[in-house]
Amino acid sequence: FCQASSHDEVSVRSDESPVHGVSEIVVGVLGGGQLGRMLCQAASQLAIKVVVLDPQENCPASSLSYHHMVGSFDDSATVEEFAKRCGVLTVEIEHVNVATLEKLEKQGVDCQPKASTIRIIQDKYLQKVHFSQHGIPLPEFMQIDDLEGAKKAGELFGYPLMIKSRRLAYDGRGNAVAKSEEELPSAVDALGGFHRGLYVEKWAPFVKELAVIVVRGRDNSISCYPVVETIHRDNICNIVKAPADVKWKIREHATEVASNAVNSLEGAGVFAVELFLTEDGQILLNEVAPRPHNSGHHTIESCYTSQYENHLRAVVGLPLGNPLMKTPAAVMYNVLGEEEGELGFQLAHQLIKRALSIPGATVHWYDKPEMRKQRKMGHITIVGPSLGKVESNLAIIVEGKKLDDK
Ligand code: ATP
Ligand code: MG
Ligand code: MG
Repeated sequence: FCQASSHDEVSVRSDESPVHGVSEIVVGVLGGGQLGRMLCQAASQLAIKVVVLDPQENCPASSLSYHHMVGSFDDSATVEEFAKRCGVLTVEIEHVNVATLEKLEKQGVDCQPKASTIRIIQDKYLQKVHFSQHGIPLPEFMQIDDLEGAKKAGELFGYPLMIKSRRLAYDGRGNAVAKSEEELPSAVDALGGFHRGLYVEKWAPFVKELAVIVVRGRDNSISCYPVVETIHRDNICNIVKAPADVKWKIREHATEVASNAVNSLEGAGVFAVELFLTEDGQILLNEVAPRPHNSGHHTIESCYTSQYENHLRAVVGLPLGNPLMKTPAAVMYNVLGEEEGELGFQLAHQLIKRALSIPGATVHWYDKPEMRKQRKMGHITIVGPSLGKVESNLAIIVEGKKLDDK
């Protein structure tokens, strides 16, 4: 199961070895998707060695990593073998074998964030229980085991009712909405049935979705990135606007909720806190990711230190970088697969070509071997003097025409 992509031997730094560069600690990342790829890009600037574990031979991080071990981050023996090559173990996906991480921690392997954090977060229901116990505001929720339970939840919370899978959710796969009691059975079926482990959330009547990237160093120092607005289409993140166009008080409140949420979890690294803003100015937590996040892609071009660099700095124990924006505004657009196969690549190519001619736009292409509908294939970040300007530039790219400058 083990294959070297570039370097056959990777040695873990021992504490006694002299430091010749920024850090001699080899960073092991479970997962080699686009987040792993962008971690590798940030690492290359600091000459930090990143090794990735991912089952796909040509995963996005493969060609940029110091070493790619081909194997499953869900398989215990593979993760243990991988850990031998790493000075610190971190994740770019939370759906990893957490029992193995707990075992490794007991043996002295350094996991950042801690396995306890991954355990709480990878089960969305446990996550909600954890945050409610820590006084973090969130939509009401309830575990459901059968149709009777689902009906009871519907009576209590009303409709529409959000039904969610406890585990393995991403990009809205794992969410189903029942608009009425009659729709409960089909919504449950769409998620694979009760035996998959489901729970319900009261519908959050949000006016905006916000997100805050929080980074915590090994010394427990915490820094927060500016609050952003995330706009989802079909449950998938479509656009991120930075900073969020909301009142200063709301930004302050969102930042406070986000840092309180992260303070209740253990370990160093970047955390993303997804939030709902309701009409009456309430902030409710949606979920937390224990890793760099889509809502922080823009930080590569718009902030003094990107979320990727800060994640690396945090897990190896370097001083954290400044999370503030160095440009007044930024917008990030996810390039999702519109069609399968060749046609999909052609459509994406047209978009990218337009983006390349827009000042302030940066194209990121993840080099995924297969094009699939709704798959995140790349993203475009546009920076500029105002949100109005970057949004009108985005409209040129997306719609292919020039709109009036705001
Ligand atoms: P991600 O890719 O962010 O990990 P996910 O699959 O974990 O997504 P969620 O973040 O739980 O899914 O939900 C996806 C989207 O669905 C949210 O961003 C929001 O737009 C909507 N949503 C989730 N929960 C609720 C709720 N309780 N009420 C209303 N809308 C919701
Ligand atoms: Mg999620
Ligand atoms: Mg989410």
